[in-house]
Amino acid sequence: MKKDRTTKSSKSQPSKSRPSLDFSDLINRRKKIGAGGNRFSIEDVAKIRVLPFEHDGKLQVFAIEQTHFNPSPDVKAITCLGPDRNCPLCDLYAEGVESCKPSVRCLCNIVDMDDPKQAVQLYQAPPSVMGPMADVLIDVDEHPDMMDPKKGKPFIVKKTGSGKNTRYTVQVSGKPASYDPKLLESVTDLQAVADRPKDVVAINELADRIRANSTF
Ligand SMILES: [Zn+2]
Repeated sequence: MKKDRTTKSSKSQPSKSRPSLDFSDLINRRKKIGAGGNRFSIEDVAKIRVLPFEHDGKLQVFAIEQTHFNPSPDVKAITCLGPDRNCPLCDLYAEGVESCKPSVRCLCNIVDMDDPKQAVQLYQAPPSVMGPMADVLIDVDEHPDMMDPKKGKPFIVKKTGSGKNTRYTVQVSGKPASYDPKLLESVTDLQAVADRPKDVVAINELADRIRANSTF
């Protein structure tokens, strides 16, 4: 497993203005999720703005959460310890146990621009949606105002197919669509959500059991 996380940077000076986006962290996260799969489904088409949240004094766009689905016949799902946390099931997957493959979700705060009552919602985006959105957010030369509540443009996410054949396309709308900047006060710190305590004992026991039963 890659362990290239640049951990929590040194404390930033307290300041009254809103902190700026942590681009190096966004770029690192973008690299980690790769091209991604397509497990998550949304409506046929959605027009969304992505709202940044603050974590450790910096603005972030999304947090990575992983789940192991059906790692063994008797376990439907167990939350992964995380991509940077020496998860024993991720180790098993790295050793070739296919059933232990982690499924990646990118947690982000969004506003559905087609919903007249604008409200912040949690979107568990698959990497195939978050990846292209992050690419746009990183490209500040081409898309300078994407995080601006008033001037930013929404993403148009289209879904086709179903099940394993689900595909998403992500485009940037040609026109800005604004949301009330007050909504930024009701976003969730999704990194704190992703970092919530996991059941380390249970996951280690499960991993030991799978290892004991594996044939190699
Ligand atoms: Zn894991």
